[in-house]
Amino acid sequence: MAKQPMLKFVQIDRDMPQKRDASQRREDFDEIYAEYADAKAQEQSSRCSQCGVPYCQSHCPLHNNIPDWLRLTATGRLEEAYQVSQATNTFPEICGRICPQDRLCEGNCVIEQSGHGTVTIGSVEKYITDTAWEKGWVKPVKPAQERPESVGIIGAGPGGLAAADMLRRAGVQVTIYDRYDRAGGLLTYGIPGFKLEKDVVMRRNEQLELGGVEFVLNCDVDADIFATIQAEHDAVIIATGVYKSRDLAMPGSGAEGIEKAIDFLTASNRKSFGDAVEDFDSGRLNAEGKKVVVIGGGDTAMDCVRTSIRQGATSVKCLYRRDRANMPGSQREVNNAEEEGVVFEWLSAPKGFVDEAGKVTGVMVQKMRLGAPDATGRQSPEVIEGADYVEEADLVIKALGFEPEDLPTIFGQPELTVTSWGTIKAQFTTGETDMPNVYAVGDIVRGASLVVWAIRDGRDCAEAILKKFNTAAAVAAE
Ligand SMILES: Cc1cc2nc3c(=O)[nH]c(=O)nc-3n(C[C@H](O)[C@H](O)[C@H](O)COP(=O)(O)OP(=O)(O)OC[C@H]3O[C@@H](n4cnc5c(N)ncnc54)[C@H](O)[C@@H]3O)c2cc1C
Ligand code: SF4
Repeated sequence: MAKQPMLKFVQIDRDMPQKRDASQRREDFDEIYAEYADAKAQEQSSRCSQCGVPYCQSHCPLHNNIPDWLRLTATGRLEEAYQVSQATNTFPEICGRICPQDRLCEGNCVIEQSGHGTVTIGSVEKYITDTAWEKGWVKPVKPAQERPESVGIIGAGPGGLAAADMLRRAGVQVTIYDRYDRAGGLLTYGIPGFKLEKDVVMRRNEQLELGGVEFVLNCDVDADIFATIQAEHDAVIIATGVYKSRDLAMPGSGAEGIEKAIDFLTASNRKSFGDAVEDFDSGRLNAEGKKVVVIGGGDTAMDCVRTSIRQGATSVKCLYRRDRANMPGSQREVNNAEEEGVVFEWLSAPKGFVDEAGKVTGVMVQKMRLGAPDATGRQSPEVIEGADYVEEADLVIKALGFEPEDLPTIFGQPELTVTSWGTIKAQFTTGETDMPNVYAVGDIVRGASLVVWAIRDGRDCAEAILKKFNTAAAVAAE
C-alpha cells in the first residue's frame, strides 16, 4: 500500500520559517522571516488533514485551493503546486507574506481546533511562488489573441493590477494611470519592507509591463484627464484606494512634529528605494534620535512603530484607547513590535499636545477603562478622571485610519454615486458603478481593507468586463 503523504499533524509540530533575531532586524528594513528550505516546506505541507470541506479555503477571500497545493508541495510536485496556486491568486507570494492569516485561512484550520497548531498556509504559499520565480516558471502574459477592446484603470495598487493581469490574459488592451512614479499602490509606498520587500512588488510590475500592460505614471487623474480616459477606453476601472487621513482636532494639534502616518511611511519607503526625500532628509519625517509616540491600534500604527525603531528612534510608544485584546491590528504584528522594543500604552487616548515655541514636546494622555458594550457588542472606552499625564514626544505620528477622497468632485463626475462613507457605490461581484462602463474595485469600494480583497475585486471586475465584451462581440457578429 502506498505510504500516506499527508495528515502528519500528530507527528510533526507546526514550525514557521526562521524569524530573524529582533536585535538584528531592528537594524534594517529586510523581511523578518527566512524562506523555508525545500524539505521543511514539504514537511509542513504534509501536516494538512485534507478536509473534505476545507474551511481554510472558504475563509480565504480568493477561495484558494489550499489543500490541493499543500498536497502537491508535500509530494514534491512544486511546479503543479504553483500552477494551482496562481490559478486563483494573482500575487500569491505577496498574500503569503502579508495576509492576516490568523484571521483568514489559518484562523479556520481544523487541526488548530484539535490543538495541533495550524498548517503554515501563508508561508507555504510564499515558498511555492518564490520558488516559481527562482525557477523561471512565472512568465509574462502572452494572450493567444489580441482583442480590440481597451480598458483604462485608474490606480496601480493590487486591485488595479489584478484586474489588469486578468484582462491582458484575455488579450484586452490595458492602460493603468497612477499619480505615483512607481506602480504598486500601498504595496510600494505604504507597507514597509520588513513585511514586504520592494523587489517582490517591482518584479510583478515589470512582468505586467512585459505582458503588454501600459503604465502611465506621475498622472494625477483630475476631471479633464478622467474625461480623456473615458473617451479613449471601452471601460474604466477606478482603483484609487483611500488616502484621506483621519485627523485629531484637539488643543495643540497644529504643532510642528505631529505627522500623518501615510506621509511618514511613504517617505521611509522612498528612502528604501534610494530616492531623495526632502522632508526626510530635513529630519521632519525621520525618527532618528527622537522620542516617538504613535497614536492608533491598527496595522498602519504597527508599521509606523516598527519603522521608527529601524530609523533609530530613542524610544517608541504606541497609544491605544482600548486594550490589547480589543485592538484592530494583528496580534502577530504586536508581538513582533514588542520584541523589537516598542512599548504599548493600552487604554490611553490623546487629549491634546504640548509644545515649546510651536514644536511638539509631548502628548497629553487620558487613561481609559472599558465600559459597557455598545450596539455592536464592543466595549466602549471611558475616561478615568484625574489620571491624565504627559507622554514626552518630539515626533507624534497619527495612525487613525483613512477615508476616501471626494472622487465625484475630483473626477468631475457628479453622477458617480458614493455611499454615506464616501466610498464608491459598486456591485460587490462585478464592480459596476451607477455610471455606464465605469467600474470600481478595492479600498475605494470597501473602505480601508486588505490586499487579498483588492485582488479578489480586481479579478471579479475583470471577469465581469470580459463577459460584457464577449456579449457585445457576439451581438456584433450576428
Ligand atoms: C500602512 C499600511 C499597511 C498595510 N498593511 C497591510 C497588510 O499587512 N496586509 C494587508 O492585506 N493589507 C494591508 N494594508 C491594506 C492594503 O494595503 C490595502 O487594502 C490595499 O493596498 C488596497 O488596494 P487598492 O488597489 O484598492 O488601493 P491602493 O493600494 O491604495 O492603490 C491605489 C492607487 O491609486 C492611486 N491613485 C489614487 N488616486 C489617484 C488619482 N486621482 N489619479 C491617479 N492615481 C491615483 C494611488 O497612487 C495608488 O497607487 C495596509 C495599508 C496600509 C496603509
Ligand atoms: S491568499 Fe491570504 S487568506 Fe488566502 S490562502 Fe493565501 S494567505 Fe491565506
